[in-house]
Amino acid sequence: MEIERHEYDVVVIGAGGAGLRAAIEARQQGKRTAIVCKSLFGKAHTVMAEGGAAAAMGNVNSDDNWMVHFRDTMRGGKFLNNWRMAELHAKEAPDRVWELEAWGALFDRTKDGKISQRNFGGHEYPRLAHVGDRTGLEMIRTLQQRVVALQQEDERLHGDAEAYIKVFAECTITRLLKDHGPAHGPGGAIAGAFGYWREHGRLILFDAPAVVLATGGIGKSYVVTSNSWEYTGDGHALALLAGAKLINMEFIQFHPTGMVWPPSVRGILVTESVRGDGGVLRNSEGRRFMFDYIPEVFKDKYATTEEEGDRWYTDQANNRRPPELLPRDEVARAINAEVKAGRGSPQGGVYLDVSTRLPAAEIVRRLPSMHHQFKELADVDITAEPMQVGPTCHYIMGGVEVDADTGAAAVPGLFAAGEVSGGMHGSNRLGGNSLSDLLVFGRRAGAGAAAYVDRLAARPSVPEESVTAARAEALAPLERAGENPYEVHQELQRTMNELVGIIRNADEVTEALEAVKKLKERAQNVGAAGNRIYNPGWHLALDLRNMLLVSECVARAALLREESRGGHTRDDFPGMSAEWRRKLLVCAASPDGSEVTVEEKVQPAMRDDLITLFDRAELEKYITPEELADFDALVR
Ligand code: FAD
Repeated sequence: MEIERHEYDVVVIGAGGAGLRAAIEARQQGKRTAIVCKSLFGKAHTVMAEGGAAAAMGNVNSDDNWMVHFRDTMRGGKFLNNWRMAELHAKEAPDRVWELEAWGALFDRTKDGKISQRNFGGHEYPRLAHVGDRTGLEMIRTLQQRVVALQQEDERLHGDAEAYIKVFAECTITRLLKDHGPAHGPGGAIAGAFGYWREHGRLILFDAPAVVLATGGIGKSYVVTSNSWEYTGDGHALALLAGAKLINMEFIQFHPTGMVWPPSVRGILVTESVRGDGGVLRNSEGRRFMFDYIPEVFKDKYATTEEEGDRWYTDQANNRRPPELLPRDEVARAINAEVKAGRGSPQGGVYLDVSTRLPAAEIVRRLPSMHHQFKELADVDITAEPMQVGPTCHYIMGGVEVDADTGAAAVPGLFAAGEVSGGMHGSNRLGGNSLSDLLVFGRRAGAGAAAYVDRLAARPSVPEESVTAARAEALAPLERAGENPYEVHQELQRTMNELVGIIRNADEVTEALEAVKKLKERAQNVGAAGNRIYNPGWHLALDLRNMLLVSECVARAALLREESRGGHTRDDFPGMSAEWRRKLLVCAASPDGSEVTVEEKVQPAMRDDLITLFDRAELEKYITPEELADFDALVR
């Protein structure tokens, strides 16, 4: 069978914020760049982002700066973040937002005409640059417009709009290919990527010395999720199978507020902006229960009375923020506990009310998508009645282990940025820190890939036997009359939701690992009826390999980490442990994905000029006694 073949310098897999920003950078550095995405161009997950992009521009509160943002990010991640990434992110996010504005993004404005910034959980000052509650849409629109502008330039310069940047939409990559060593697994450098067109099922091969993974998250391994259909952990699995490592896979963010009713929309996100703009959480008894759940480490930063919390919205200098704006892991656990204690709403959530907090017209102006979403999907008018909400699988903090400055993974020629990469957010991401992460590290990965290509003495080539193996793997489900892939998928989703969800324990996670093992065996035999022309059963059969591999990493790491931190809560090990404070869990896989191993690795100590940005009293809550002794020696 013919395989369509293309040659590029850099292939970017994914056309969300991270992929587009990486591709723009690679093209601006003169590299012939392909953007490959399995969804339609313009319909990446980033489009769904609502609240905004966090950047310490200081437009609304001039006390904000990169150091405050850095501290908030490290606190939010419970000090497990790759601190170099958190530093770069805090320093560079404002430039990336301004750059987006220069490329045509129309952010909401303050009264004096600056980019407006809104409050979000865990951010000390109003920091999220936003466009109503449709920020992701504007971000993608602007980045796409920039791609088109570059193509117009290429048309003028080279007579071919696609000479230096071309989009391959509805095209799924199933394997990364390397130049020598074993066909897959350790050894060798990136030489290309293999995949298929979703529409007609024809196969496609990209020859390229550099690949940037920007494939987003893994939410479709869970039943209740805010994530869209393409979040099947493809980039995570592609990296693993090529010999790269994943870190922090045990940390999954369950967003506190997903819709709970009706069942068909369960999990769809209710943006944190609702709380940022004054919305409050109540249980079935009408109590604002978040005041009962302020953890010790945050006690001095959050209001202890409703009156103080309410005053904060108009006078932030003299009041502490309401506990509804605690980091997401805290709020999600609190909602879970209220529901378990029998104080939930009729459909198993709690109440989120903005109707008694803001005038109706203001709600419609500030939260147009939420107003529309509840009216259309649940027949609830949020200007007049509360919403019912509950936790939903939202974001994975874990991902490809990369070099902070360049986005380079362990495999030469492989780079990663955005949600598929790991480290930046530690054990818990602050809202708004993803959109800025995409821009900061998308640009860096694009530049890293371009510099890598410049340094190469010779182009690597794809061995024919790797192409043959990738082809056989891609077509195998069509050649079997095996088990239904939808059944395996549903069982995986239920397993992960029930046994490796928001609250975990050793027995349940062990049970999940057993189940995943059996599902992996069953997945070897799934078959797709029909031919290659738009065949979703075939697509799912291929995606299953990725979801199972990633789920195994999540479960294995969750079993090993015997503490509770950020997006990983063990009810058999409640509380953070000093022993685990600097330990990362690093996942690797055998070349065929049958074996997953997890190793501990110690995170390097934070640079002196960064650790001294914190007060000793705060560090005491997070870091080990040895680290504290080093800190004391430093400041003495
Ligand atoms: P994506 O935007 O998801 O792009 C992934 C791309 O990879 C897609 O183009 C997809 O088609 C492609 N792809 C995947 N697999 C393959 C494959 N095998 N082959 C080819 N292509 C592939 N974060 C914030 O900071 N602020 C917010 O306000 C915010 N709101 C959110 C609201 C919702 C409802 C959700 C779900 C998330 C929100 N987030 C927010 C999180 C944020 O949107 C995501 O983390 C971020 O958009 C991920 O961007 P990305 O570029 O990494 O991936």
